[in-house]
Amino acid sequence: MTTPAPTCQGADGTAFWPSTVVSAPVAGSVGELPDSCDVLVVGAGYTGLWSALALLDADPTLTVCVVDAAAVGDGASGINGGFLEPSLTHGIDNGRRLFPDEYRTVERLARNATRDVERFLAAEGIACDYEPVGTLECAVADHQCAALDELATAYQDGGWPVEILDTARIRAYLHSPRPVAAVRAPTRGGLLNPYKMVRGLAAAAVRRGATLVEHHRIVDLHRDRSGVRAHGANGCRLRCQQVIMAVDGGVRHLLRRTRLASIPLEDYVMVSEPLGQARRTSLGWERREGIADRSGAFTSLRLTADDRLFWGGSEAVYRFGSTHPTNLQPHRWERLATDAAAWFPQLAGLRWTHRWTGTVHMSASAIPTFGTAMTGRVHYVAGYTGLGVLASKVAAEVLAARTLGTTTEAGTLRWATRRARPFPPEPLRWAAVQWARHDIAKADRTGTPTLLMTLLDRLGMGFTS
Ligand SMILES: Cc1cc2nc3c(=O)[nH]c(=O)nc-3n(C[C@H](O)[C@H](O)[C@H](O)COP(=O)(O)OP(=O)(O)OC[C@H]3O[C@@H](n4cnc5c(N)ncnc54)[C@H](O)[C@@H]3O)c2cc1C
Repeated sequence: MTTPAPTCQGADGTAFWPSTVVSAPVAGSVGELPDSCDVLVVGAGYTGLWSALALLDADPTLTVCVVDAAAVGDGASGINGGFLEPSLTHGIDNGRRLFPDEYRTVERLARNATRDVERFLAAEGIACDYEPVGTLECAVADHQCAALDELATAYQDGGWPVEILDTARIRAYLHSPRPVAAVRAPTRGGLLNPYKMVRGLAAAAVRRGATLVEHHRIVDLHRDRSGVRAHGANGCRLRCQQVIMAVDGGVRHLLRRTRLASIPLEDYVMVSEPLGQARRTSLGWERREGIADRSGAFTSLRLTADDRLFWGGSEAVYRFGSTHPTNLQPHRWERLATDAAAWFPQLAGLRWTHRWTGTVHMSASAIPTFGTAMTGRVHYVAGYTGLGVLASKVAAEVLAARTLGTTTEAGTLRWATRRARPFPPEPLRWAAVQWARHDIAKADRTGTPTLLMTLLDRLGMGFTS
């Protein structure tokens, strides 16, 4: 079989999701920082907005200010794949490995949080194209089938109904030559439009009384006797009692102690033109699940509400020194397009109209790390490792409770209390990341974990999850 040439030409270099709404500031957002508030939330992504909502639900008299360096939706929360994956541990297998005694509790909390998000979307009228379609995880090589069986067992153990599809059944369902087997978990979350979701959360937070300030970067925090002073890039200041740092791995720029807690990876993704009826029918895939494969390529694919194809994969780039990229690498989208063409040869000539990158902050165990600074005045979380759409809700509740001096069930688990494993300093960090990527690719071809992968596994480091 010949693989059709990828067609990325014409892609406009920007994220797809913002194009689905008429752009305007979130209603009720203000242009200036107030002089003071009870709680300052830095970052208006999912973590910051869920934190503000949790704080105001607990105590409507609090003054809460949410400030973002950019516009709501410009960060990862507005441009991600929109997989609402009910996992707090970057996959149930990683959770079982790290927390054998508590992973069932963690799964229950993830299940409850998914229901809470669904109820919240309905109650607040947040129209973010949510589809509760569950997941379909595919083995794309025979040697991945054992891992797929283990996954099915883990899901059942964690309380998720599953269906196992052998080669004949998966190919009859999903018209692709790539999968050799699959596990369908029909109740494991769903798909949404991330931009509509984050803008909806922002509007809900404003309705509850939060002050939302866009385009103000916080550059410094100072502890003093009566609380914390936050300094903005434009010279403005705000005094508050407590701070929630909801900037994911960006926290390392403001709190030095967190600089080795996570590393930024630049993730390449893309979306096609609408498929149209004939192409859409040619795929099968009637239930529209979010699909992921079990290879080290971490392929993820889904359909948008208007039947475009979203494609993501292993094109995540680490830059020496954890710096941010100054140049994009178009060949990485070309590789994704080649991969998509191998999955669906019937889509020959499909145009990829949107392609973009975003930063995924990876922690060593692939699980977000919580912490406290400035004698309990500042609480933070970082390192969702590319799976934060749901986890951010539970994390935000932990942060809000700690800010109020209370706790949640999740906040008492090792999930939220363990010490983070730091990444090594450079140049070791760069070498370790490259080495791990190379080994994952090798293990992918052979099906045998390498010595390094086994070692990282023992150290509780999440390169393989
Ligand atoms: C391409 C891509 C695809 C992804 N796909 C998925 C997926 O399908 N499912 C999933 O579960 N997860 C996915 N993720 C991960 C998910 O998007 C993140 O884990 C989640 O959005 C993190 O939310 P957050 O609020 O913590 O951080 P962010 O969304 O990054 O928000 C942080 C905000 O803080 C602001 N900020 C930073 N520094 C400052 C400062 N100094 N002062 C003021 N504001 C500041 C930023 O502007 C930003 O808006 C993906 C990520 C990427 C990049």
